[in-house]
Amino acid sequence: MGYEIEAQFLGGAEEIGSLGLYLRLGELRLLFEYGLTPSKPPAYPAPAPPVDSVFLTHVHLDHSGMLPRLTTEYDVNVYATLPTIAVLPLLLNDTIKVADLEGFPIPYQKEEIENLMDNMIPIDYGKSIELGSIEVVPHNAGHIPGSAMYEIKNEKSILFTGDIQTVNTHLVWGSKPVKTDILIMESTYAGREHPKRDEVEKEFLEKIDEVVGRGGKAIIPAFAVGRTQEVMLILAKSDHEIWVDGMGRFVTNFFLQYPQYLKSGKKLKKARNKMNIVKRRSDRRKALKGEVIVATSGMLEGGPVLHYINHLKNDPKSAILLTGYQVEGTNGRLLMDRGILELYGIKEKIDTEVSFFDFSAHAGHSELIDFAERCSPEKIVLMHGDNREALAKELKERDFDVIMPKNEERFFL
Ligand SMILES: [Zn+2]
Repeated sequence: MGYEIEAQFLGGAEEIGSLGLYLRLGELRLLFEYGLTPSKPPAYPAPAPPVDSVFLTHVHLDHSGMLPRLTTEYDVNVYATLPTIAVLPLLLNDTIKVADLEGFPIPYQKEEIENLMDNMIPIDYGKSIELGSIEVVPHNAGHIPGSAMYEIKNEKSILFTGDIQTVNTHLVWGSKPVKTDILIMESTYAGREHPKRDEVEKEFLEKIDEVVGRGGKAIIPAFAVGRTQEVMLILAKSDHEIWVDGMGRFVTNFFLQYPQYLKSGKKLKKARNKMNIVKRRSDRRKALKGEVIVATSGMLEGGPVLHYINHLKNDPKSAILLTGYQVEGTNGRLLMDRGILELYGIKEKIDTEVSFFDFSAHAGHSELIDFAERCSPEKIVLMHGDNREALAKELKERDFDVIMPKNEERFFL
């Protein structure tokens, strides 16, 4: 006689942010992710009920950002891969720093981050974790180095994708479908397709040649975790003088410690060694004399990238090349839509050229449909998207049973 699986999203079901999924399988209570939305002010998921084990798919804050609060409350194991565990304290400590800087309530103390790190248990792709009669198997999610999907082997099998990318990037191999009864899938790019990656890359490198050729500098804002390294790998083909600044420098070094989670550790190391790394403040002056600068943050919400833009904002020969989706309400979005940027508290018109290149680490609409079909589930739960209907419609047309739970709504699988 089987039992029902009880489920509830504590956040992140209907939006991209603050993800947390509570699952009860008989007596066993599991939590997948416990993130925050790094908006101003940050947004948090609902409080978590008592749980027995926690699974983290990857290090991004919308998946991990509230874990220190959780392990303060419950002394439980949190499973993640080694690259995730290595980079996690960097992002969590930065969350405290940003909250302090912006004057928002600080969600946890440094000691709570240390406490979380004591509870982290390393896992690896393909190696199952036994929890009583249930087995959980991590698989490559293709999103960033160390990103995992979790397959729960139960009477009914469940696959929780976290964030997935199915195409190969320079940094990591794409994820492969896993046969499952219930598929719990992200839907960030529901209704949206990506342009062909090799074409975007070509345009990106050509744009840099054009900017440098006319005597300008190319400033490339990039997220620290994943995007900075992908951009470095693309730029490795270029012969310009390139500088890298921001948190992405440290993340690159962490990733290089776990080359088994990279498509090619050798290539990333070579790319890093080819570029100039900003090591001290005085290097920033040198970087401004160079040709290309890669720096955090990706949505221009802070970080050294603003320092560089502040120096070049009146130079129409220079260009800002955005490399990731700019969320509504962020400084990067303001720049894209209106050519205005908030620099050190003042909103200013920017004279530099602005262009956008889609180097997304998420599967696009068609790739998600294809992935779902090849997992051949009887039921699909869509999460982590603000336009899930677009995906649901097409999946229903293909005879899948699709549900789109709301945050905090209890549902059964
Ligand atoms: Zn992510």
